Amino acid sequence: MILLVDAARLWRGEQDGLFQPVKSAVLEQRIPAQYRGADAGRGAQWYGVSTRARVVVYDKSRVKATDVDAYEKLAAPALKGQICIRSGSHPYNLSLFGSMLERMGPQRTEAWLKGVVDNLARAPKGGDTDQIKSVAAGECAVAVTNSYYFARLMRSANPADRAVAEKVAVMFPDQAGDGTHVNISGAAVARNAKNRDAAVQFLEYLAGPEAQRMLADGNNEYPVAVGVRTDNPALKSLGDFRAETVPIAKVGASTAQVQQMLDRVGFK
Ligand code: FE
Repeated sequence: MILLVDAARLWRGEQDGLFQPVKSAVLEQRIPAQYRGADAGRGAQWYGVSTRARVVVYDKSRVKATDVDAYEKLAAPALKGQICIRSGSHPYNLSLFGSMLERMGPQRTEAWLKGVVDNLARAPKGGDTDQIKSVAAGECAVAVTNSYYFARLMRSANPADRAVAEKVAVMFPDQAGDGTHVNISGAAVARNAKNRDAAVQFLEYLAGPEAQRMLADGNNEYPVAVGVRTDNPALKSLGDFRAETVPIAKVGASTAQVQQMLDRVGFK
């Protein structure tokens, strides 16, 4: 088995021929088509096992919720010098920007990326948790992070982490538009798997209610399987949200084009 996070990496693995297609009525019933690899007739090459939202965190004393309620607004002049984000070339951002490319087309997406670069508080560095901490510390007013990093701070045994989470607000962007960008953790059967049937069974187990709740509780990600709800207190307190409907396989496939745009606009 091969387990990877983010469609950008799953797409890469598929391109490199690491996986083999799997056709399974159980997987097709449990995992929405939006969260599977492309199916050329012999089944998908990979399947999502959990989902994560790419959210915005912000300092309520410095920006209004309406300044950050859409990804497009991250390029608005109102946020000049206020945004912290990890490297544009990180798979999490390549996928978010790939989703924007699907929504807006190449011209608008590149102009948007240029606008985001112009709004950065500092050159991209660190991971998503570092960006959240930078907002709490006042280094920037707005940051972009995967939802589970924020949920992890909320549930941390360390009071300093919980204080960071309490200090900043969370926005699920584009609730009135195309929905918040949602990515996956995914699993595939390796091309050279010696025990293919057991691997498929494990994949089906991962998509079942017991494993789905375990993943959501242990990793603060959302269940991908149809009809499974989590009792994770942090995810419950973040509330329900509307996810985008762009197929995640399409997002993964756009990463090379996005990287070229990042190079042109100087997004490190
Ligand atoms: Fe991560």
